Formats: sequence, C-alpha cells, structure tokens
Amino acid sequence: MNNRFLSENLKNLTPYTPGEQPQNKKYVKLNTNENPYPPAPAVLDAIKNVSHADLRLYPDPNCTQLRDTISECYGVKPENVFVGNGSDEVLGFAFQTFYQGKKPIIFPDITYSFYPVYCGLYNIEYVTTPLKEDFTINLDDLLNENGGVIIPNPNAPTGRSLPLDEIRRIVEGNQNSLVIIDEAYIDFGGQSAIGLTNEYENLLVIHTLSKFRSLAGIRVGYAIGHKDLITCLETVKNSFNSYTINRLSLAGAIAAINAADYYNECAAKIIETREATVEKLEALGFTVLPSTANFIFVTHKKVNAEDIYLKLKDAGVLVRYFSKPAKINNYLRITIGTDEEMNIFHNKLKTIVQ
Ligand SMILES: *Cc1c(COP(=O)(O)O)cnc(C)c1O
Repeated sequence: MNNRFLSENLKNLTPYTPGEQPQNKKYVKLNTNENPYPPAPAVLDAIKNVSHADLRLYPDPNCTQLRDTISECYGVKPENVFVGNGSDEVLGFAFQTFYQGKKPIIFPDITYSFYPVYCGLYNIEYVTTPLKEDFTINLDDLLNENGGVIIPNPNAPTGRSLPLDEIRRIVEGNQNSLVIIDEAYIDFGGQSAIGLTNEYENLLVIHTLSKFRSLAGIRVGYAIGHKDLITCLETVKNSFNSYTINRLSLAGAIAAINAADYYNECAAKIIETREATVEKLEALGFTVLPSTANFIFVTHKKVNAEDIYLKLKDAGVLVRYFSKPAKINNYLRITIGTDEEMNIFHNKLKTIVQ
C-alpha cells in the first residue's frame, strides 16, 4: 500500500493472509481448521433469545456474565479473565500491551503467521527460534534473554505439542518476561496451562471459541492470567473500543462455554477421525507429524505438496498450502472434517498420488 497520507510507521506493513474462504463454489473445506460439527444446539437458542428490543442498547462493556461463566468453567476468578472479539483480537491487545518493550520477543520460526504481523503493526522487534528437525520447539532457545515469549500449544501449522512440564520450564525460566501460550487447539488432546496461571504472574493463556467450540463465525476469544495482566489488557481495550463483544456473540459464547459435554463428544469424534486419517495417509506414502490438534501436517515422499493442493482444489477439496517459508513448502495442512468429508478427500487424494 502506498499513499502520501499513510502514517510513516505503517509504510512496510504486511497483513496476515487468512486461508481461502470461497464464497462462490462449494468445497469440502479442510483448509482453515474450522470444526466440522455445528455448535451446540443451546448456542443458537441463546442467540435467538436475545431480546430484539435490547439490540438498540450497547452490550455490557465488562462482559460480566461471559467472564463469570468462563471463570467457573476453569476454576479461576472473573478478575483473571479477559475476553475479546476472537482470539486474534486478544492476541493483538496482548502484543500491544506487553511486547512493546526494548528487547525483542521470541517465537518459533514455524508458527502462527499472525505473530510477525502484530510485530509489524506495533513496531515490536522479534527473533525466531528454528524448530528442531522433528518440528518440535527448541526449549533452550526460549530461555535466552528476551522481551517476551509466545508459542501456540499445540503449535500451528505443525500440530505438535509440548507437555505441561515443558511449558512450566519455559514460564519458570522467563521470570522477567511475559510468556503467552496460545491454546487455540488445546482441547483436541493437549495439556492446558490454565492451571499454572495461579502460580505464575508471567503467564497468559489464550483460548478461542473458533475451533473446539465450532464458533469461528461469532468471533470470541479469551485470555486467562494474573489479575494485574488482565487489568492491563482491560485498560488498553477500553482505550480503543469499550464494546468489543456484541450482544449476540455474548449470548452464544455463554451457552457454548456451558455445553462442555456436547463439545467433548465432538472433539472425541474428531480425534478418532484424525487417527484413522493418519493411518490412511501413511498407507498412501505420506509422512504425518504427530498431532494433538484438529489438523494434521503432512508431506508426500514422491508427489509435490503444491501439486497435490492444486489438484485437490480442482477436485473440490480445499486444504492449506504454505509456499513460504522453504522449510514447510512441501507440506500440506489438512483440517480434520467429518468421516464423510475425509472419505471424499481420501478418494480424490488416492487418484492424485497413485
Ligand atoms: C485459529 C487460531 C487463532 C485465532 O482464532 P480466532 O479466535 O478465530 O481469532 C489464534 N491462534 C492460533 C494458533 C489459531 O490457529
């Protein structure tokens, strides 16, 4: 972008590139890690029950009822909970609030590609630590002097996760900087660090309702941490927009947090489908990284990943291909869909790689 009125500090801004969201053609959509199952029935009921007349009123700027519900769900206090308009917004607030210090922050070289974008937006310096050969995170690098540490657990797009004792080591080894654990996919088999937030004042754990709770469409995410961290986030949020979460999203999110049984069942199904998919892909000559997420990261021994991506797209199946960085440009990230969707995917894939 270029315009003579553009602020000087934004001249080199590169925005995040989201996965394709085609609006014209119907695909088997395995490219943006959405949940293949619908939200809990109670969610739509709650949204429908929002009073029509109340829509003329601003929503609760403190999101009191939603924060109470989240705090009960995780056994923390409402003062330990910050909510935002999708976890992307929560992450954005966190970068702005905590990472504009003098020292560079650190994150893995292969990770959620929104992190370097926030650094560009807020003029935050960063260094990256290379993943190990097996695509796991190099813990020792995260203990070097830094202005903050952020990792997704499980990592995206690899799907690999760190056990809780290693997360604890990262938090303990960084007493002077804030560690953010982005747990967007934690409910598909990982170990959450929320339980550590009452032990460490330098830990912030961020969740989203977009994946496990099938609600990417209503944009709600939250952070859990020490109450002073939450107060800082609130102050920045209230200096930007007091009413980030609308009434419909608030109602839907509260119902979703209360529907744990429904969502645990969906997640169990996804895990089962994931494991079956891994077996089938290995039989087709794919190498599949171990995943505790609702997606898998794969490479084929003979057929080029970009070719597979393009041919699948032609055949009506969307998966995610990253042309950069070079380290992952022969990999595909495949979201786990329903069994039916995965069968269609598998049949198309078979003809492509055989
Ligand atoms: C999907 C995702 C998010 C963003 O979730 P929203 O709440 O939809 O903004 C954050 N972090 C990671 C690692 C993700 O994959």
